[in-house]
Amino acid sequence: MEKIQHQTKIKPSIEQIKGYNYINSNDFEDWQYQMRNQVDTLEDLKKYINVTTEEEEGINNTTAKWGTTPYFASLMDPDNPQCPIRKQIVPSKHEQENRYGMENYLVFKENRAEDEDRPDTIARQYEDRIAFTVVNKCGIYCRHCFRKELVVDESLQLRFDVDEGLEWIKNHPELREVLVTGGDPLLLPDEQIEYIIRRLREIPHIEMIRFGSRLPIVLPHRITSGLQKVLGRYHKVPIWLNTQCNHASEITERTAQAVWDLLTCGINVGNQAVLMKGINDDKKSFQELHQKLINIRIRPYYVFYLEPAPGIDHFRTPVEKGAELIRDTLRGHTSGLAQPMYVIATNIGKIPLMPDYYIVDKDTEKYTLRNHRGETTTLPNVSEDGAEGAILH
Ligand code: SF4
Repeated sequence: MEKIQHQTKIKPSIEQIKGYNYINSNDFEDWQYQMRNQVDTLEDLKKYINVTTEEEEGINNTTAKWGTTPYFASLMDPDNPQCPIRKQIVPSKHEQENRYGMENYLVFKENRAEDEDRPDTIARQYEDRIAFTVVNKCGIYCRHCFRKELVVDESLQLRFDVDEGLEWIKNHPELREVLVTGGDPLLLPDEQIEYIIRRLREIPHIEMIRFGSRLPIVLPHRITSGLQKVLGRYHKVPIWLNTQCNHASEITERTAQAVWDLLTCGINVGNQAVLMKGINDDKKSFQELHQKLINIRIRPYYVFYLEPAPGIDHFRTPVEKGAELIRDTLRGHTSGLAQPMYVIATNIGKIPLMPDYYIVDKDTEKYTLRNHRGETTTLPNVSEDGAEGAILH
């Protein structure tokens, strides 16, 4: 069997893939070719990894969409079923189990069954910002996706009427910020992305546009010069982009280049990781992920506790796990830039789950604070009216 080799840690495996006649290196660079040739059959998958019996069972049992770009598939370890990339790509037989997940989770999470009447494209949890869902296609169909009803199972069918959504946004002056999301909005053609940005910038009350896209990680080839032109013109309404990278092995030189290309056209790039059992819930993986993100200029923004979507319990950790990992591997242990906020996203908004070990004691005069080495110090407890507290030691 001719097989695409797992790449060395940094360099994408274009050179290795050259020997494989299905993809030549020119095709591999073409993001649309990559999308047309997603790895989404058992036969294709076997060209990348030695599929185990259990993985084959997972694939045969699933009725949900699965698949990934050939580039991201090439990052899998062909011989290790525990490979963190592989576990995000290959359906598991455990997806048929459901203990903690909620049916129709997305409808609940996005408050679609209640409150105000909104177009299908608009999800809302906050007063001044909304999520604008413009597509249900992705570069990878992540096995842990909380939007699985929309993009993986496709049981939730939305009407992607972009103009209707734009009109609604225009008629809601309380909005300041729009998150353009999906699916993956960067899969839209350049002209459509340009149209959405232009129309949003014409709305006087919109002060910021955000994109949520996993493509810088799973298809960095999408950051073309054409897309840079669309995103990169100076405008007082800035564009921020948050991607999703869950393990250091997802980061390559190709990722670093794509992030640089985004930054050089004025797009700030952040990361929203998902905490997952067996993928990044050990100290080494968690620390490496956040260190490597800032090495390629991505600012860690959030680590999400896995949401209660159905069929993803096999990735679930105890809630405390993320706070413990931040306490034990990031805060005080590595750069202050590598510190994400640990949160759970809910139907009433994001709720912080950060560690609180640092306040050991509090009395009327002072707080006693503890650092990552267990050392303590004090801070005066200053009242609102400015009453004197203890002297800081
Ligand atoms: S890229 Fe995002 S929306 Fe698409 S499957 Fe993965 S987590 Fe879900």
